[in-house]
Amino acid sequence: MSDIIQLLPDNVANQIAAGEVVQRPASVVKELLENAVDAKANSIRLIIKDAGRTLIQIIDNGKGMSQTDARLAFERHSTSKIKTADDLYNLHTNGFRGEALASIAAISHVTLRSKQENNELGTKIDIKGGDLTAQEIISTPNGTSIEVKNLFYNIPARRNFLKSNTVETRHIIDAFQRIALTYPNISFSMIHNDSEIFNLKIGNLKQRIIGVFGKKIDEKLIPISEETEILKIDGYVAKANFAKKKRGEQFYFVNDRFIKSHYLNHAVTSAFEELIPHGYHPSYFLYLQVPPNSIDINIHPTKTEIKFDNEKDLYAIIRSTIKHSLGQYNVSPVLDFEKDPNLDTPYNFRNKATSTPKIEVDSNFNPFKNEEKLKYNPKKEIKPSWEALYTDTDNTDGFNSLKNIEVDVENVSQNLFDEAKEQTNYSTFQVHQRYIVSSIKSGIVLIDQNAAHQRILYEEFLEKITIKGIGSQHLLFPKEISLNKSDILILKNIQLDLESAGFQFSITENDIISVSAIPTTISENMLQNIFEKLTYNIKNEVPESSFSQLDSIAKSLAKSTAIKKGRKLNHKEQEEIVNNLFLCKEPNFTPRGKKTFIILTLEELEEKFNF
Ligand code: ADP
Ligand code: MG
Repeated sequence: MSDIIQLLPDNVANQIAAGEVVQRPASVVKELLENAVDAKANSIRLIIKDAGRTLIQIIDNGKGMSQTDARLAFERHSTSKIKTADDLYNLHTNGFRGEALASIAAISHVTLRSKQENNELGTKIDIKGGDLTAQEIISTPNGTSIEVKNLFYNIPARRNFLKSNTVETRHIIDAFQRIALTYPNISFSMIHNDSEIFNLKIGNLKQRIIGVFGKKIDEKLIPISEETEILKIDGYVAKANFAKKKRGEQFYFVNDRFIKSHYLNHAVTSAFEELIPHGYHPSYFLYLQVPPNSIDINIHPTKTEIKFDNEKDLYAIIRSTIKHSLGQYNVSPVLDFEKDPNLDTPYNFRNKATSTPKIEVDSNFNPFKNEEKLKYNPKKEIKPSWEALYTDTDNTDGFNSLKNIEVDVENVSQNLFDEAKEQTNYSTFQVHQRYIVSSIKSGIVLIDQNAAHQRILYEEFLEKITIKGIGSQHLLFPKEISLNKSDILILKNIQLDLESAGFQFSITENDIISVSAIPTTISENMLQNIFEKLTYNIKNEVPESSFSQLDSIAKSLAKSTAIKKGRKLNHKEQEEIVNNLFLCKEPNFTPRGKKTFIILTLEELEEKFNF
């Protein structure tokens, strides 16, 4: 029998490879944008016609290609980015397989124009289905322009497989956004069917995010920043009340590469767990830097998955960093965090974790004094009329209608407040010693007094514990409490944190806790109960970081000290709860995710009467 194995001709091999690399027009866009970035361009233009079916063109001002390189670039496995296998482990570029251009050229009509800076003239190359059809010397600007026309012209099956123009354009925009968000230091523009869709100037990360998603996103962003040995993390998350039904704006970049990771996505979601109702998704833009040897980027060019050596640690760091920022920011959208970089980390939970060797230098020195003023004064001095915040009446979606509950001190309109006041001398009243009811612009609001107070106290405690330095009241006679051995151990562990929260106590040799000072918000006879609950909660929540431990303490204290149902409140107390609740960063839920209030709109009321 004769031999039957044959080597595939190059162009067939390239077509097969092309199927792997190029699944749709967006894949071409991704590859070409990455090449332009790798070529060190600082200005990149993308021009698309008919969702990329007719034309995909990318023009960059990068380093360009020599005449020989221009031809070689379209050979398979031709790359300037690695020379030896070792280079693979030290990559700082997007590409390295040397497959993209060969693949793209195998299934389209490509025209390349390129010129290097120190050359007078450049090169133009035409390739059809992988075959060079023309090459000439031309005059062209520095950098490279690649036109890809009639994609999949020789693979009708692929062509037919493409989705509608709307869907394919969406994919292209996704690819474009991912790269644009990775490199705010490069200007990008995108033109589709002759109209400009994006025009992104060089700027900082925040400006880039705003450029991509619009000005409105500005007020939603909370900065995230943390640096540990195994992970540096920067970026932004959107405040909880801007969470979306769709998983839209969720971006992880690892070492300057967009990646998808279910696991790390979960770390973010879990940081928001009590703040976002089920079925909603937080938006985030997170930029991680990890040691290159701690990750394994799947080298399949179209995949965005990645393997980390120490996923669990990353998970914990990300989660607590975000939780921490959520607790700190969200105060007022009026603040622009870009203005004062010191505000970005008013304190740092890592420092707290290592605060064991305490050296007292100047007890009056408070590095966060100014921040505290900036951040918390509004809460204490300006009492905005929270009714003004309910103007979004035409939104029927319960959660979305709360979107506008934002404490924007500057936008408070007194008129709206007065309207509610005119109807009664008091703007609130209590029912069944359990709920506070109040008339608001769009209808009525029912507040669960216990849940609301938990939220208020939780934020207060968190602030005290983390920013420190809050007055506590000294007890005339120390109060003695007893706990079992294991609880005492827990208590010892969190003693420093509790001191920041206003407690002072010592533990005697025979395991008696002698409390000499307590926070002003609690009373002496609650102590035994509070300490028992506290140790119980810490034990059961298994905090994986020092921050979530603080968080547990704050939650626990809030829960055990909040006003219970059944307690009669006078009008002043009621109003205080209402006002303080809506000054909270996350008024919608208790720290453990229970609703704090519900709104009945006028329409809903009317409907009820009509049946
Ligand atoms: P890879 O990016 O994996 O190296 P490609 O097929 O995408 O493979 O590109 C092949 C080579 O062509 C690159 O290594 C680079 O040297 C060159 N090249 C591609 N695009 C550009 C560009 N826009 N500017 C300059 N050189 C480029
Ligand atoms: Mg490439």
